[in-house]
Amino acid sequence: MTGKLLVVDDSATDRLIIKNMLGDYNVITAENGREAMKLIQERTDIDLMILDLNMPVMNGFEVLEALREVNRDQRIRTIILTNYGELDNEIRGLQAGAVDYIRKPVNMESLKLRIEVHLELLRIQKLYEQTLFERDLTLDTLLEQAPIGIALSHGEKPNSSAEEKVIFNSAYQRITGRPRDELIKLGWAQITHPEDLVKEEALFRSLRAGKIESYSMEKRFVWPDGSIVWADITVADLKLEKGSEFNYICLVQDITERKAVEDALRESERSKSVLLANLPGLAYRCDNDRKWTMRFISEGCYGLTGYRPENLLNNRDLSFSDMIAEEYRECLWTEWRQALEARAPFKHEYEMMTASGQRKWVLDVGQGVFDEHGNTQALEGIIIDITDRKEQENELRHISEIDGLTKLYNRRYLETVLSRDAKQNPDNESAVALISLGKINSISLTYGYSFCEQIIVELTQKLSSLANDSRELFQISLERYAFYIKKYQNQNELRDFCQSVIGMVDSLQILRTVGCGIGIVEFRGGDYADGNIIKNASTAAERSNKDQIFGCSFFNREMEAAMKREGDVKEALIRMVDGSPDDRLYLQFQPILNLKTDRVEEFEALARFKSKKLGTVPPLEFIAIAEETQMIVPIGQSVLEMACAFQKRIQALGCEHVRIFINVSAIQLLRNEFMEDFLDVLNRYGLKPDSFGLEITESIFADNFSVINQKLEKLMDIGVKTSIDDFGTGYSTLSRERDMKINILKIDKSFIDGLMTDDPERTITRDIIAMAHRLGHAVIAEGVEHRKQKQYLVEHQCDMMQGFLFSKPLDEDDALHILAAQG
Ligand code: C2E
Ligand code: MG
Ligand code: MG
Repeated sequence: MTGKLLVVDDSATDRLIIKNMLGDYNVITAENGREAMKLIQERTDIDLMILDLNMPVMNGFEVLEALREVNRDQRIRTIILTNYGELDNEIRGLQAGAVDYIRKPVNMESLKLRIEVHLELLRIQKLYEQTLFERDLTLDTLLEQAPIGIALSHGEKPNSSAEEKVIFNSAYQRITGRPRDELIKLGWAQITHPEDLVKEEALFRSLRAGKIESYSMEKRFVWPDGSIVWADITVADLKLEKGSEFNYICLVQDITERKAVEDALRESERSKSVLLANLPGLAYRCDNDRKWTMRFISEGCYGLTGYRPENLLNNRDLSFSDMIAEEYRECLWTEWRQALEARAPFKHEYEMMTASGQRKWVLDVGQGVFDEHGNTQALEGIIIDITDRKEQENELRHISEIDGLTKLYNRRYLETVLSRDAKQNPDNESAVALISLGKINSISLTYGYSFCEQIIVELTQKLSSLANDSRELFQISLERYAFYIKKYQNQNELRDFCQSVIGMVDSLQILRTVGCGIGIVEFRGGDYADGNIIKNASTAAERSNKDQIFGCSFFNREMEAAMKREGDVKEALIRMVDGSPDDRLYLQFQPILNLKTDRVEEFEALARFKSKKLGTVPPLEFIAIAEETQMIVPIGQSVLEMACAFQKRIQALGCEHVRIFINVSAIQLLRNEFMEDFLDVLNRYGLKPDSFGLEITESIFADNFSVINQKLEKLMDIGVKTSIDDFGTGYSTLSRERDMKINILKIDKSFIDGLMTDDPERTITRDIIAMAHRLGHAVIAEGVEHRKQKQYLVEHQCDMMQGFLFSKPLDEDDALHILAAQG
């Protein structure tokens, strides 16, 4: 091994000899102690020193002394050179730090050997130190990089570590919020929360006493600012060799965050238990099966149902499904299916049966619990008692669902019942029989409204006697009832039942002339979805007694087709109003003949509708639909415009006195803007009101007598002739006629038809004419087809007539032709 040697000797010869002998080594020399020390301080690479003890300037002992001071880190090994018989010096030298001695005169072989050994020792020591250094480094790094706080200590007392050897890694300092010095000064007890200290001190004592080898606990460290850090600590005995510096280790983990989460969790658990304790119902977790097998059910179960949770858990005594009122079970199952499918929250109200047999309304709000594959694991939710609310609601609903006069459930309620049953029993076959007393208004007009109500109440009593559990009676409107028939065998049974109803109506004398129509709709629960049952039944009812006082018919395909046709016409009308060239509105004009002069002095404008898709649509059909949809307003406006255009052509012929009568619906007349719009169009065409007449049907007087009458009066005042169309078919009476602001009465065709027979109608027609004259009205006869009729009318001083006998409704040119021909 090579090493750097320093030879210190005052004898130049000795120095030279030694240096030569040790030629293999790197040798430097010094002639006295002072020079040697200077070299030692200048250089750090000297491994071995051969030191003479007897030197004039700074002897060997002084050098060894000085070396102690400076050689701490360098560890120069020193071999002293002594003389024979200087045993004392040898001992003293070794005590002063020398590692060996060689006696003078120096035996070179021996010196070489010694040097060799010492250099080897030095090498080993260096190696050893290197390993030690590496080991220290690893431990330090380990300590520093550990994510947990680590303290190593050999302290006996918990209160202070001031005197003791301790290591705190930086994580430990960070967690405790204190630097190393402060930790040493205070010791762990002082930075421990007082509430945790007693426990830890006891544990620590047991550890020290060897009763336990380690302990773990959660504790709080108090930071300098007084704040608290929660930590999970483990303190363990460190079993090192005797004399080792550390004898216990403390591992610290910051768990403040976990604690906060735990606290929040505990708080939420607490809130949950408070909630559960005060819930006016129960909380549950159950399987997704038809029994709703309960896996958890809160204590509230008892208060709500009268059963203990354990009665229900795992279906021990009964299942949750057993508690649900039977009629809701299927529906509940379906609703849950839908909610789970849509991953949506579930919300449903239903009735439960309590242990004492009482019914309770509950609100069930819940949701599915799904695993990572999306399979339903459980259902969770709460069920609360809503009986009080339901009762209030029911009371309110009762008010809105009950007819004020008859106390029967109204149309709204029937619709609710139908839609509920449709959901619950989609396969059930049932029927609705709607009874319409369409003409009862005439009683009201003749005898007054309260009398009419009285009749309705009487009839209700009679019809109620036909109701039972499977046949409920509803009041749809004042003049319409409906039986909801849930169980029946066949159509014959329904027909028989309708006969019983007719019998009841017929038993009230005053209703014999009013009659009634009954429309029956048979349906399966699921079909209710279209919501048309009441409408279809009404349609069937109206049709059933068109031509007779009492009638009964089933809603059938024909009616269905009629309804489809109605829809088609509606669409065509919409297209026409929108200006489609394929759907055209135009007028025909039917001449009205003055029976005294035998001249045409008036025309009635009759609307025609031709659609590319539907062909010619009769006015009776499209006018009714237009009225229903309010399209009659724009249509009426077009009719007036076309009538004005025709009037212009008449006047251009020089026939200024010829009047055009226009049919007007109630909807048009009742509009506030009617008068203004009417005059507006006339002004635009430069025409006067006395070139026109308006025809209205009696029926529109029924509800709005005074309003309509005022309007008619205004029209009369400005010169428009007013006429009652189809007189005799509506609700009006001759006595009422007196008060009507009209100029003309148009006797309905049905009376004129009657003139062909020997009917008593013949005398009625004569009476109507006479009566109208007495009231100052002129009379037109409608639908005159035969000479015989004309003859009768002339005989009885009817003023005018209109009908196929003289002329059908004509296109403009033909109509003008007639005027031109009569000159
Ligand atoms: P209406 O006002 O009573 O019109 C008389 C109806 O009797 C017309 O039927 C006419 O063509 C028909 N008629 C006339 N003479 C005879 C005859 O000798 N024999 C037979 N069998 N029928 C005859 P139309 O044109 O089918 O009109 C039906 C109804 O449509 C009209 O009855 C009227 O209520 C309504 N209407 C027609 N045009 C309009 C209109 O522009 N506005 C309104 N609101 N209703 C209209
Ligand atoms: Mg008319
Ligand atoms: Mg008419």
